[in-house]
Amino acid sequence: MAGNRTFTMIKPDATTAGNAGAITKIIEEAGFRIVAMKKAQLSQELAGKFYEIHKARPFYGELVAYMSSGPIVPMILEKDNAVEDFRKLIGATDPKKAEPGTIRALFAKSIDANAIHGSDSDENAAIEGNFFFSQFERF
Ligand code: UDP
Ligand code: MG
Repeated sequence: MAGNRTFTMIKPDATTAGNAGAITKIIEEAGFRIVAMKKAQLSQELAGKFYEIHKARPFYGELVAYMSSGPIVPMILEKDNAVEDFRKLIGATDPKKAEPGTIRALFAKSIDANAIHGSDSDENAAIEGNFFFSQFERF
């Protein structure tokens, strides 16, 4: 059975452009309940740790530099079938390939500065949520 929680993070390009509020509104209107939320900035070291699974990929160094370049807004979200439904809401990694109306189609600047992260499995949603939030920050 699919789980009912996912993890997201509004990325530095979107927070810097002042789009965090508009993106959060779309997320809530799509039926996701915010369980945890904050604003933070990752060090290079923590960004590297978060994206450790991409260590071997050619864009890893740039991804870590970019993700630590400005503020992010991490959130834990709740909805039936959360992981899959949220990936649909954000659209493809490359905004040029993202469905019209998806968050990346609306707000992403490029394939790297693509506005928002969404977990790709229930297991990773739990790992990523635990990376940012303690038990006492979930409501
Ligand atoms: N990324 C990149 N270049 C690429 C592919 C990915 O800079 O060719 C970045 C982009 O920010 C992406 C992140 O690395 O969101 C993680 O990549 P993944 O393939 O997991 O895409 P996602 O799950 O975020 O759609
Ligand atoms: Mg991914």
